[in-house]
Amino acid sequence: MSYFSDIYHGIKTLFKGMSVTGGYFIRARKGSITQQYPDNRDTLKMFDRFRGEVVMPHDENNEHHCTGCQKCEIACPNGTIEIVWDRQVDPATGKKKKMIDKHIYHLSMCTMCGLCIEACPTDAIVWAQNYENSVYDRSALTKVLNQPGSKVKAGIED
Ligand code: SF4
Ligand code: SF4
Repeated sequence: MSYFSDIYHGIKTLFKGMSVTGGYFIRARKGSITQQYPDNRDTLKMFDRFRGEVVMPHDENNEHHCTGCQKCEIACPNGTIEIVWDRQVDPATGKKKKMIDKHIYHLSMCTMCGLCIEACPTDAIVWAQNYENSVYDRSALTKVLNQPGSKVKAGIED
C-alpha cells in the first residue's frame, strides 16, 4: 500500500513543482524573468524593496536631516554606524547645539536589517538601491554619509 502511496505523492509533487514553474513561465512577459546581468547594467532597475546600502540624502543646498542624535548608532546591533559629533554655535539661535561632524557607515559590516532607518526620528537616512558594491580595497566600504560642507536643514529637530 505504501508503494502506491509513494507513487501517488511523487506524481502529485511533480505536478505541483511544474505548476510553479509554469506560473513563472506564463508571467515572464510581465517582468518576472531572470535578469541578463551584466549585459543590462545600464538599464537594470532594482525592485522597490531592495536594500543596497544606507545613504543620507542631501538637497540642492547641501543640507540633510541628520541632527546627530545617535539613535541610529544605538539601534544598530553590530556597530556599523559611528556618529562623530560636536557642540557648535547654531547660527539661528546663537546658542551652542549638538551638531554632527561625521556619520560613519561601515558597509562591509551592514546586515541590511534596517533598524537604523526605523530608529531615525527625522528620516535622515534611507535605502539606496545600488547593488555593485565590490571593491578591491576594503577601506572603500567605510563611508561618511554626510557630504563635505553639508549641514542640517533649519528647523529639523529630533
Ligand atoms: S541596516 Fe542594520 S546593520 Fe546596517 S547600519 Fe542599519 S542597523 Fe546597522
Ligand atoms: S541619521 Fe537619524 S538617527 Fe542617526 S544620528 Fe542622524 S538624525 Fe539621529
